[in-house]
Amino acid sequence: MEATLLPSTRFLPTLTTMKCSLTGSQLINGQWVATGAKTMRGSNPATGEALDPRFAPASEAEVDAAMQAAAEAFKITRELPPATRAQLLETIAARIMDLGDDLLRRANLETGLPLPRLIGERARTCGQLQLFADLIREGSWVDAVIDTADPQRQPLPKPDLRRMARPLGPIVVFGASNFPFAYGACGGDTASALAAGNPVVVKAHERHPSVNELFAHAVRAALQDCNLPPGVFNLLQGPGATVGQALTKHPATQAVGFTGSKRAGRALFDLAAARSSPIPVYAEMGSLNPFVLLPGALAERSEPIAAGLAQSIAAGGGQFCTKPGLVFVVGAAAAETFVAQLASQLAGVPPATMIAVEMQQNFCATTGAFQKIPGVWTRLANSPTGFAAMPPILLEVDSATWREQLGLHEEAFGPGALVIRCPDFTDLIETVSCAGGNLTAALHYGAADSSTEVRAVAQALEQLAGRVVFNGYPTGVEVGRAMVHGGPYPATTAPSTTSVGILAIQRFVRPVCFQNAPDALLPAELQNANPRQLWRTVNGERTKQAL
Ligand code: NAP
Repeated sequence: MEATLLPSTRFLPTLTTMKCSLTGSQLINGQWVATGAKTMRGSNPATGEALDPRFAPASEAEVDAAMQAAAEAFKITRELPPATRAQLLETIAARIMDLGDDLLRRANLETGLPLPRLIGERARTCGQLQLFADLIREGSWVDAVIDTADPQRQPLPKPDLRRMARPLGPIVVFGASNFPFAYGACGGDTASALAAGNPVVVKAHERHPSVNELFAHAVRAALQDCNLPPGVFNLLQGPGATVGQALTKHPATQAVGFTGSKRAGRALFDLAAARSSPIPVYAEMGSLNPFVLLPGALAERSEPIAAGLAQSIAAGGGQFCTKPGLVFVVGAAAAETFVAQLASQLAGVPPATMIAVEMQQNFCATTGAFQKIPGVWTRLANSPTGFAAMPPILLEVDSATWREQLGLHEEAFGPGALVIRCPDFTDLIETVSCAGGNLTAALHYGAADSSTEVRAVAQALEQLAGRVVFNGYPTGVEVGRAMVHGGPYPATTAPSTTSVGILAIQRFVRPVCFQNAPDALLPAELQNANPRQLWRTVNGERTKQAL
């Protein structure tokens, strides 16, 4: 008998543990449906073994049925009180916990991710659902603004104008392979879209079809518990290039939330822009995550930084979108010592099983191409040690070569980094500024570094990234109110927002202004009596007072 895995979260199972038989089907409007042949299977990345059951890719008719179900459900969700939506999010979290060890074991089989990591990721996933439940219960995120009428105003009367954020309609969500829970079927995109009052259609990632189906069982049960329409959540299996693109093109789709590669994110962004009515694609994609070390930091704590950085590079097999992939060092002797320490730390990291053998092959192909570029020095060599297993690699190049060789600006998704040696501070600023758009950038400095130089680097990094980390490591994304997990292109297709943290909800709403609307036709948040007791801005004053 396998030991019971205790959840490290406040979401302890509350209902009888859910027992789900995997169907290999789509979830459409509460029904498990599969009209096509069951040709897809997950596989165990540690062994290559194909896993049961088989799954049917969604047909065009199923794509349409899922979108129609979501469009129908939107008639209900757009009017649901926040308390009901919050209860749904909390019930989904409870139902996820009720999946118990089945979910953890399946995820371990389909992704190779170790159980402690999966337990942590499940807690984060439930924490995200709770964060949005708390946000919508409090309510002021809708930014209710009221400018009352002035019929006597000259030369023209002033109308009554009331504005707030309103939901968009059906949202299509694509999960990533490297976070099967936190960026999966019930991840941050789904949580924020549901919180805002939208129905969701998830395109399951092909690498973990069973995990996605288990999540769909949890949401289906939660919708029943809350007596809400089943079309609020639908899940389709199948390839991104067919099912995913058909969902993006469907006229009922109002926005797309995507986490994954630049190639796929950009393809969906272009597809959405080419629709006769374009829609936003909020794609969180790859990132190089520059990590800058000033000489003062190396003088003070070269060894501990090398240890921390090695851990950050290799964590999760280097398959984090926040992995520090570019390491900038200045000068000669201290930098050389540091790179040797970093190589030695990475050499001690055991090989990790990558999420898929294709991921391992891509990583080897990308780093192999780097190694062929003249001027690239292999400081720590690696080679695959088994099926999908990968030890870390460390490469080095001088700053002038890196600036020139755009092939070295590609993301190598796996346990490795490229050190960039800059001769002096001026060169460092010039080189770092070529690092494109990123999710994160980190700066390590010490007492010996001038405050002017520290500020100059910090400003350069702010231009590049959604999150700037000082004397720390970028991996590990705290799910909180102030978090930004976004950044300029190519980190995302929408630099004004984030996929983690409360601002993520703003992706799936739009501001609507109601002019001279009768009180009864207004959303409760804008009504005179302020029945939700919200903080509102009335004629420029922040208040909870009724009108
Ligand atoms: P991926 O291959 O881009 O897959 C993501 C989703 O896009 C999958 O559902 C996939 O469908 C679909 N897709 C692939 N090609 C498509 C196409 N041509 N048209 C439409 N849809 C398509 O990415 P991944 O392997 O899951 O993740 C690895 C990458 O994601 C890395 O580059 C990593 O940096 C990035 N990532 C970013 C973040 C972030 O927050 N920014 C988080 C995690 C990962 P299939 O099921 O057919 O593959």
